[in-house]
Amino acid sequence: LAVKEVLTWDLFGTASRELAQTVADSGFEPEILIAVARGGLLPGGALAYALGLKLTDAINVEFYTDVHETLPDPVLLAPLLDTESIRGRRLLVVDDVADSGRTLALVLDLLREHGAEARSAVIYAKSRSEVEPDYVWRRTDEWIVFPWSAEEPVNRAVPRD
Ligand code: 5GP
Repeated sequence: LAVKEVLTWDLFGTASRELAQTVADSGFEPEILIAVARGGLLPGGALAYALGLKLTDAINVEFYTDVHETLPDPVLLAPLLDTESIRGRRLLVVDDVADSGRTLALVLDLLREHGAEARSAVIYAKSRSEVEPDYVWRRTDEWIVFPWSAEEPVNRAVPRD
């Protein structure tokens, strides 16, 4: 059985506050927070509140289909947010974990191509990540179990066939 790093809902609260404090202490004052959906949605929401940041958006990327099972490359599931509105803006990109770092690299490159000043914050970073996030709460090389994806989706009233 593989060793796992388990983030509980309770610890997620602590992690969010501590990560936000690290961002604030750095002096960086983001204007817009961009969550990398879906993994970054809950961390992004928590950080937006903790930083008192009201302007948020999300960008949808899919890469992992299962534990240790990925698509060949991370792919955007929907077109980017309004690209003109991010030109010259300070953005904080938030994700749950930088593992290979390829998702974060894709998003950061995209936002920077559109003229944004983008920094990144993650709850976890793994040592193999090709991107060194600007703000990291903890480092691990284990498979991480996040509270929002620890369980299967609830049953549907009418099952899909
Ligand atoms: P990356 O592109 O950095 O390899 O990872 C992309 C996404 O895969 C992460 O944002 C996360 O949603 C998912 N992922 C990567 N490593 C883990 C992990 O250890 N545990 C979980 N639950 N998801 C992971």
